[in-house]
Amino acid sequence: MSQGSRYAAVPYEHGASKRPCPQPRAASEAELFAMSLTVVGSIAFDSVRTPFGERERMLGGTSVHFSLAARFFTEVRPVGPVGEDFGDAEIDVLASRGVVVDDIERVPGGRSFFWRGRYEYDLNVAHTEDTQLGVFGEFEPKLSDASRAADVLFLANIQPDLQRQVRSQCPQARFYALDSMNLWIATARDSLLAAISEVDCVIINDAEIRQLTGESNLARAARTVMEMGPRAVVAKQGEYGAALFTDGGFFALPGFPLEDVRDPTGAGDSFAGGFLGYIDSHEGEIDDLCLRRAMGYGTVLASFNVEAFGTERVASLTREEIDERFDQLREMTNFDILPASAR
Ligand code: AMP
Repeated sequence: MSQGSRYAAVPYEHGASKRPCPQPRAASEAELFAMSLTVVGSIAFDSVRTPFGERERMLGGTSVHFSLAARFFTEVRPVGPVGEDFGDAEIDVLASRGVVVDDIERVPGGRSFFWRGRYEYDLNVAHTEDTQLGVFGEFEPKLSDASRAADVLFLANIQPDLQRQVRSQCPQARFYALDSMNLWIATARDSLLAAISEVDCVIINDAEIRQLTGESNLARAARTVMEMGPRAVVAKQGEYGAALFTDGGFFALPGFPLEDVRDPTGAGDSFAGGFLGYIDSHEGEIDDLCLRRAMGYGTVLASFNVEAFGTERVASLTREEIDERFDQLREMTNFDILPASAR
């Protein structure tokens, strides 16, 4: 990887939003440097077919979907290789939106990660038809000092040995999270279990947490993962939402109700981007209250992702749209008991 060319830095435009997140504060320059999020995951071309259309070789990858969502909250640094087939136009989708692309490396003569998938009429059912690791097959992560200094690290879905190598280079983060999938559970289980033991939070599909633990009951499966080390587990449940398990309790949100869903690819990564982006922007303790708000932002970002193919919708999203949908989600999930006299 040492012969590859790195892309130039694009400064993060803090305060791109007119409306601050909950817990607004003015960040000093020193705080801004500390507030940054590093992610390793695939940077890819995706060919996707859903009942509502198809696209060939569109920009995708777990790290890309994640970064485009998380950039609304904090400075994001994706780490990983791309091939010669990855052009300036693809990099610009990230760089022009404030994602710091210094640690994306173009490998001469290499091919980018490629994934082909299709979805059934029930969009919760996905089939992988082809996965080509390309330049990720030879990838040996060497993070820049700025990426090592991240205070939140996301090990997005990618080969677990790579996740562990990146984890070992970021010793001072205050929160570590990881995602994975059926392929790695089946082919790299021991390495994945080791990676899980080194993070605070696992964010994973409900079917995959069952496959990982051999527990069909979701609460038991989450408990089993927490016994491996993490203090929080988020089980993603497609259009049905996501559930949060912690030592302190349980919380769940439905998927945001949408009438038009085109392509679920990247929904889980957009969820993680909203979830961890919010956590990184939150200066206080990462307690259950913080995690619940993060669930709200994750749900909102995932809902925008599925409205169009690939990165199309999240790339054109505004902070105002995020905040409006966050408020709607809060209203639709809020309920109260009647006063005792009226019961
Ligand atoms: P999801 O959020 O689960 O829908 O993630 C979809 C993204 O995962 C696509 O953009 C793919 O490029 C990427 N992807 C699919 N399979 C893998 C894999 N085995 N490792 C890493 N990334 C993958």
